[in-house]
Amino acid sequence: MQSQANITREFREKQIWAVRFRGGILLGLAALYAGLAATGAVPVNGYALGALVPLFVLNEIRRQCHRRGIHSDLLTELCVVADVLTIGVICYFTGGVESFFLPFLFIQVAGTSLHVNFLAGLKAAAGGASLFAILCALENVGALPHSPFMDAAGHTSHCLNTAYVASASLLIGFALFLAALSTGYVAKRLRVREEELAEANRQLVRLYRETQRLSITDELTGAFNRRHLMKRLAEEMSRSTRYERPFSIVMMDVDHFKKVNDAHGHPAGDAVLKEVAARAMGELRESDFLARYGGEEFAVLLPETSLDGAKLVAERIRERIAATRIVLDETELAVTMSLGVATLPMVRKEAADPIADILAAADARLYRAKKAGRNRVVASDQPIAEPAGQPGFGEATPELAHA
Ligand code: GH3
Ligand code: MG
Ligand code: MG
Repeated sequence: MQSQANITREFREKQIWAVRFRGGILLGLAALYAGLAATGAVPVNGYALGALVPLFVLNEIRRQCHRRGIHSDLLTELCVVADVLTIGVICYFTGGVESFFLPFLFIQVAGTSLHVNFLAGLKAAAGGASLFAILCALENVGALPHSPFMDAAGHTSHCLNTAYVASASLLIGFALFLAALSTGYVAKRLRVREEELAEANRQLVRLYRETQRLSITDELTGAFNRRHLMKRLAEEMSRSTRYERPFSIVMMDVDHFKKVNDAHGHPAGDAVLKEVAARAMGELRESDFLARYGGEEFAVLLPETSLDGAKLVAERIRERIAATRIVLDETELAVTMSLGVATLPMVRKEAADPIADILAAADARLYRAKKAGRNRVVASDQPIAEPAGQPGFGEATPELAHA
């Protein structure tokens, strides 16, 4: 993550540096031109000076965008087009091929390659050169007036050594073009590297999430594991104590599970555990939490649920598991569960260890459900009245019930 942020920052700094570089050259050339015009070495040209203003404005817009991390391809393309047009016109009005401003075309190429990419730099160069050539051709055929820097024969008319100006322009342009090639190449490499890093980061995030999920999940049943249960239990207990909200826990245990293993083998026992967890999960809301407490014992955390609500949920789970037989490869098993329910306000507030207290309360009720004949929910410490004749009650031992 760090290295990607570094590369992004490096790239942005590079872009800002490139804009400053262009701004600096613009300023330097403007100052030089102003100096020469002031001393009368070249005529004052309103077109050239006027066209410098949008160049500065565009440069400043780009600088602000890079500083704020705004990346708009459209804005960049528009700036490139506007720059190229401006520079082409300036070159034409300041001396055609001998123009003092010819290097601007190359600066534009350099700037574009630095800002965008090498291909955009080539496009800008081609666009600028074509426009410049079209303007010169139009001037040759008389469709455009001569540049104020030129005489009737089409040569630069001011007192500067024109050969010197032309060769200096070309030299500066060529140097800038080479700089653009190398920086454009580096910028492209940076982007490729940035993409690779982003992909590696995405994979890392995926792996991290998967590891996270595995570290809190029971492999066999897909329910949460005991470690995560204890963490969530502590969080829910303190939240519900602080805000005085109800909170319930259901402990549940498969009845006579040992017999399933003994009669049908361990893999059949595993399949039963999976099915029991799936059925229990089907009866819970998003905010409820099912965990495998150990062996064939599960716990359900029910935030914002009173004792009555928790009793209903426990009863639904019990019914769902007892209602239909679990179909295995070679047999069908009638499986039942015993459940004990405890609710936070019922637990003594002054308890030294409220978590152990609520677990012990739910466990004690689960034990009483077993003692009272299994396949039932116990949610209080009152003596248990057998609900005679009520459908769904009655202990089913797996080996008796299998088809
Ligand atoms: P009760 O109704 O009193 O709960 O009886 P029980 O047979 O269910 O209880 P007991 O504690 O005697 O047996 C639990 C069995 O669960 C013993 C153990 O071998 C088995 N067991 C624990 N974990 C697993 C598991 O991951 N897979 C399988 N197949 N069996 C397991
Ligand atoms: Mg059991
Ligand atoms: Mg048990």
